[in-house]
Amino acid sequence: MSIAWRAAGATDVGRVREGNEDSLFVDPGRGIFAVADGMGGHAAGEIASSIAATTLGEVLTSAIDEGHRGETIFARLKLAFLEARAKIEQHGRNEPQTRGMGTTLTALVLSPDGAYHLAHLGDSRAYRLWGGRLEQLTRDHTWVQREVEAGRLTAQAARTHKLAHIITRVLGAGTDDVPDLVSGTVHPGDVLLLASDGLTGMLTDAEIATLLGSTLPLPERAAALIRAANERGGTDNITVVVVGVGNGK
Ligand code: CA
Repeated sequence: MSIAWRAAGATDVGRVREGNEDSLFVDPGRGIFAVADGMGGHAAGEIASSIAATTLGEVLTSAIDEGHRGETIFARLKLAFLEARAKIEQHGRNEPQTRGMGTTLTALVLSPDGAYHLAHLGDSRAYRLWGGRLEQLTRDHTWVQREVEAGRLTAQAARTHKLAHIITRVLGAGTDDVPDLVSGTVHPGDVLLLASDGLTGMLTDAEIATLLGSTLPLPERAAALIRAANERGGTDNITVVVVGVGNGK
């Protein structure tokens, strides 16, 4: 099997926040995609997510250009997370007002043979829409997710829980958390989504599936997701990367 893909990414400040602490990286040619959601207050969050997205992009660009595909890409994804963390911590030492900043990072590498490789820390999610069904490929590193897995909270209640923002694993912020690694296969017709919690906290999976599976061009699908989150209140920054998978040569 051989696949090809198109992609579109967009980020929006939302309707409440003054700044946008999310960052994204989209390189459709190489099949590298990432979403990062910074934290640490104001400017610091923007810096942390920007460092994460930029570093991820640099490390994976080199990896793809050197011909790394398949399982060996995991080593480069782990390296990218380590380098990004080191840069975030270094920045905090150089500019103490940013000390303690951190970010989520969800990174996806797609290969022409249909394999995907994901690495993630935090609560920015990856989804795959296939056969009309939305499958979440990542597990949030959050307190509410733990409660859901322990059977003490429903997924629906978790989404709007007052502690939904409590993240248990993160890139930076003085931690040495390592990312979860996930791999699998996509097929022509699938649509992949990376999103910050400004989207997933506002919309249900069913709503996301409807908008993601529309027949609109990908940039308009990305815009429609952001518009829907804003119509729900837009209480947080909203970032989406949409990847449509088709037949390869
Ligand atoms: Ca957020």
